[in-house]
This record gives sequence, C-alpha cells and structure tokens, in this order.
Amino acid sequence: MIFALFGPPGSGKGTQAKSLVKTLGIPQLSTGDMLREAIKAGSKLGLEAKEFMTKGQLVPDSIMIGLIESRIQQPDCAMGFMLDGFPRTVAQAEALDGMLEAQGLQLTDVVSFIVNRPELINRLAGRMVCSSCGASYHENFKQPKQAGVCDICGGAVVKRDDDKAEVVKARLETFLEATKPVEDHYRAQGRLREINAEGSEQEVFLRIMQAVRRSAQGVKSH
Ligand code: ADP
Ligand code: ZN
Repeated sequence: MIFALFGPPGSGKGTQAKSLVKTLGIPQLSTGDMLREAIKAGSKLGLEAKEFMTKGQLVPDSIMIGLIESRIQQPDCAMGFMLDGFPRTVAQAEALDGMLEAQGLQLTDVVSFIVNRPELINRLAGRMVCSSCGASYHENFKQPKQAGVCDICGGAVVKRDDDKAEVVKARLETFLEATKPVEDHYRAQGRLREINAEGSEQEVFLRIMQAVRRSAQGVKSH
C-alpha cells in the first residue's frame, strides 16, 4: 500500500496522516517533518533547507528526491508507506514514479485535499504543533488541555516559524504555482482522488479511507 496525501498548506494532511498511521499501520513519510528535524539537528541539509523554508519556498528537487529515495529503502517501508508533502513538483513526481517502478512498486492513490482559500488562511493563522510528536492544535478550534503542553505526549506546543502571515501567503502561492501541476500529472495517470477536506476530522478521515480502500480492493481483484 503506497499512497500520497496532497494538498495546500493548512488542508489538514498532517492531522489526517497521524490517524491514518494508527489505522493502517504504515509509516508517514512527511518531508516537512524530516526537514524540520534536520534543522533541529543542525545538519548541513537542515542549514540549506532552512533558507528556503523560512521564505515559504520549496527546497530544491535534488535534495528532496535524495531524501525520499533513501527513506523508502528503510525496512519500515517494506509493507507500504504514506507520503505527506511529497511530491510537490512535477520533477519530484516523475522521479518518484521512476524509483518505484525500478523496484516493481507503484503509487496507487494520490488523495488530494480540497479546501477553500479563506478557510486555509484561517486554519494556518491559528495553527500550533507539538514540537515532539507533531500533533496539531489551533488557537481557536483546538487548544491543548493545558496551555502549551501536548495532550498526547506532554511535549511543547509551539507555533511553527513558517506559520507567520507573510510566509503563509508565500506558501500558498508556491503551492498554486509549482505544486498544482502535480495534480494534472496524477490525474492523467488515473491516480488522483479528490476529497472534500472541509468538515470534521472524522468526516474527512472517512472520505480518505473510502478513497484508498476502493483502490486496495481493486488491486486485489485484478
Ligand atoms: P505545509 O504543507 O503546511 O506547507 P510542510 O511541513 O509539508 O508544510 O512543509 C514545510 C516546508 O518544507 C515547505 O514550505 C517547503 O519549504 C519544505 N518542503 C517540504 N516538503 C517539500 C518538498 N517535497 N519539496 C520541496 N520543499 C518541501
Ligand atoms: Zn506531542
């Protein structure tokens, strides 16, 4: 089972990914989380990535493709994996197609999260995340029980550096310019599953499960 979550910043990919991991038992490969870890660790990759991330720009394809290529070779990916935040450009999508094909694997579904723009800006403006487990919170809709402390792991709940208003705008622009064409790439392959990502977490979760189950069954019966 190999599928990808696709959608603009603030569309809820990260939140849903956490629930999907629990239900499906496959790892979440979040390139955003990987980059933030590299920054925390102060690695060369982290230093390089930070420059782009703080401006709301994409990290260069060569870096991202290398990162994913080595990640999917890890033993925990043997039973499948869920991509979150990758691919984000057509070049990344083509590279991924090639990598998987070389191993006799394929991406079955690209679940595209559809959310209207004012709602996205609203969600991003108040977003907070746990700095240890990545759980998401929101200033208005979903506060942790104890201010600044993660309900799940007790880690520190913080605002992400790139969730400031100016950077949010840049990230949305980047999404429309570079990332939207990825949708066409997968639509042409018949792998794009568009889902309505407005509504409760539970509602959206069920829509995703429906989209990926349908194809898991389709593959079995062929
Ligand atoms: P969001 O989807 O909310 O923007 P992410 O955590 O997925 O958040 O990504 C944060 C930042 O990390 C992006 O704005 C970008 O700079 C960088 N990034 C993550 N994934 C990729 C990727 N596949 N290609 C290029 N840059 C990426
Ligand atoms: Zn936590």
